[in-house]
Formats: sequence, C-alpha cells, structure tokens
Amino acid sequence: MSEFLIVGGGVIGMMLARELAVSGADVTLLDRQQCARESSWAGGGIVSPLYPWRYKEPVTQLATWSQSSYVHLAQELEEDTGCDPELRQKGMFLVSVDDADAAVDWARQYHRPMARVDAEFLYRKEPNLKPGHEQAIWMPEVSSIRNPRLGRALREDVKRRDNIRLLEDHQVQGFILEGERVLGVETSQGRVCAGDTILTAGAWTGQLLESLGLTLPVAPVRGQMMLFKAPVGLVNRVVLMDGRYVIPRNDGRVLVGSTLEYTGFEKGTTEEARASLYETALNIVPQLAEYEVEHHWCGLRPGSPEGIPYIGALPGYRNLHVNAGQFRNGLVLAPASTRLQADLLLGRQPIIDPTPYELSARLEQS
Ligand SMILES: Cc1cc2nc3c(=O)[nH]c(=O)nc-3n(C[C@H](O)[C@H](O)[C@H](O)COP(=O)(O)OP(=O)(O)OC[C@H]3O[C@@H](n4cnc5c(N)ncnc54)[C@H](O)[C@@H]3O)c2cc1C
Repeated sequence: MSEFLIVGGGVIGMMLARELAVSGADVTLLDRQQCARESSWAGGGIVSPLYPWRYKEPVTQLATWSQSSYVHLAQELEEDTGCDPELRQKGMFLVSVDDADAAVDWARQYHRPMARVDAEFLYRKEPNLKPGHEQAIWMPEVSSIRNPRLGRALREDVKRRDNIRLLEDHQVQGFILEGERVLGVETSQGRVCAGDTILTAGAWTGQLLESLGLTLPVAPVRGQMMLFKAPVGLVNRVVLMDGRYVIPRNDGRVLVGSTLEYTGFEKGTTEEARASLYETALNIVPQLAEYEVEHHWCGLRPGSPEGIPYIGALPGYRNLHVNAGQFRNGLVLAPASTRLQADLLLGRQPIIDPTPYELSARLEQS
C-alpha cells in the first residue's frame, strides 16, 4: 500500500506525484483514462495569468513561485525523459489594455519585468500584427509551453520512477471509509488503498466529493481553441488582446484562444465559437487568413471562485486532501500548488503561507 494515492493525472496530479516521489515517498497515481488528456492537454500553455494584475494576491503568490521554476523543470524533464515540453521564453505583448496604470503599479510592487512600449517597438518585434496599435504592455519574461508535450514528458517521468505506481483506466466511483477516516477509493478495477488520498481531478473534483455530501465550488468552464498551420516567424510571441490571445509554437503553428463557457460537463466544439475564434485570430494577425485551420478543440477548466485553488485537507474527514480549482491558470500555478501541498503532506516548512488555499473556511456543507 502506498503512502499517497493521487486521483487524477492532469498536470496537478502528475506534478504532485513527482514532488512526493522526489522526496522519497511511495505514490499511487490513478486516472480514469490515459493521463494528461483533459484540460491539461487542451490548454494554451501561457506560463502567466492573462492580466496578472487583475488577480488576487494568492494567485500572484503561486504564479510567481511557479514561473521561476519552469525553466529548470522543462530542462529536467527533457533530460530525464527525452520529451521536450517546448518552453519558449519570448515574452508577451498585451494590446488594447485600458488599465495600464494598474498594470505598471502591480509590476512595480511585485518586481515583475513589465514596460509600456510604443508602436515602433511593438511592430519591430511583431511586424505581422494588425496595424493601428499605438502602444502595448510588454512582459519580456513570460514564457509558453506546449501542453501535449508537457503532458507526455510528465507521464514518461512518472512511469520511469520506481516509487510511483501508475494506474490508468481506473475510474474512481466512491470512497472507502472507516468512520471519518478515508482508506482509499473504489474504482472500475477494484479497490485502491493508501495512507492519504489526494483529489486532483480538475473540473470533476467537486463531482467526486458529492458522494460524501460535500459541495466544493469547483465547476467546469469550457474553453475552445483553434490551431492555424502557419509558417515559422509569422508570430513570435504571445499576444493578448481583449481577453483572447495568439500563441506561437516552435514549428510556426499558431494557437488562438479561448472561449469561456459555463455549459457544465458538455464537451464539444461549436460552429459559433469557431467563427468567433477565427475573427479574433484575424483581428490580431490578419495574415492568418492565408493559413489552414488545422484543429479546433475544447477542454473543461476547473473553475473556482476568483481562480484561487483549493489546496489542503478536507475538513470532517481524515486522510483526504484536495488540490483543484486552478481555473484558467493551471499550467502556471501547477509547480507551486503541488510543491505547497507536498510540503504540507510531508510536514515541511511550506514555500508560501497555505492559509488562503485552505478548504476549512471556504467549503460549504451541503
Ligand atoms: C482552452 C484552455 C486554455 C487554457 N490556457 C491556459 C494557459 O494558457 N495557461 C494556464 O496556466 N492554464 C491554462 N488553462 C487551464 C489549465 O489547462 C487547467 O487549469 C489545468 O490543466 C488543470 O489541471 P488539472 O490537473 O487540475 O485538471 P485536468 O487536466 O482536467 O486533469 C484532471 C484529471 O482527472 C481525471 N479524472 C476526473 N475524474 C476522474 C475519476 N472519477 N476517476 C479517475 N480520474 C478522474 C481526468 O481524466 C483528468 O486526467 C487552459 C484551459 C483551457 C481549457
């Protein structure tokens, strides 16, 4: 029996398994399908909140810690697994921002590299953007990562570790209880027990807790994305405009995202979103009209109030924990969210104050 059982193999579950295993713990990680097939596959991979100054302090704390760890993480994953997650640290432009003063104040307060730049600077770096922008915000240290490749690298890393047992195609159907103590879970392939159970099931985490009569406000928020088969160099940096963005990949392909839809667990793309994303793409980079749309997909983000994740023990139960609700920022928040939880589980000094993420004050009893 493992010390820790992690339910859900997205970026949160896999990075948590990795953190615990690196510290010498025995871990079982299970998923109802192959790992990294849900939101962690579908996302855009910007390693920054979109408008970072509009988030509350607890999100900034996790994002800042994570951002500085991504270069090392990406290098380690590539060296250990041979899969390159394609971390590109080329910066992000934000155009048409109407609260630029607040952005600059925030950057000064948190010591984040950010500058207001003029049109000459913007178009010198990104000549194919739609003409007409007079200024922009420039965040030179923002990077992006290629989600499916990060997922593949993490899965390979998990598989190669002797102290992680990976159980895919195991759907959790309920909990095994002894009074208030959680012994493990019932799955489609039988019982799996462990010392502590941690739920990292993304948008489905709230659903899993319903069987215990608990209401965790983590709910699915659908996001649709589109991929253009563009040539290398058409776009070089992440560009954000009116809440949407383009993200270039190393092979030239350009992602356009994303919608924000409260449609429950309904997973499917729509013609309306396709047309709207296409319009967004051409509004940012008109030349994208010349290139084929190669793919259009969606994912379910684990939505939570103000995007502040729930990280910690579940009140009323023993040995049951949660790490979910990273909402639009699961990629960028993952290293810090999982390191913080590993610190708590292993009794180490936490990297940051865990109080804002604790469940006790925020959870409603249904
Ligand atoms: C369109 C889009 C764009 C995004 N862009 C960005 C971005 O640019 N930057 C960023 O930081 N974030 C972004 N995100 C958000 C980010 O992708 C998510 O916050 C993150 O992937 C959540 O990770 P997770 O591991 O919690 O959930 P998931 O990746 O959804 O993983 C949950 C796992 O739990 C498993 N599971 C569920 N129920 C069960 C069960 N009963 N039994 C067993 N296993 C179960 C699932 O199979 C799945 O593998 C985006 C998301 C979307 C959809």
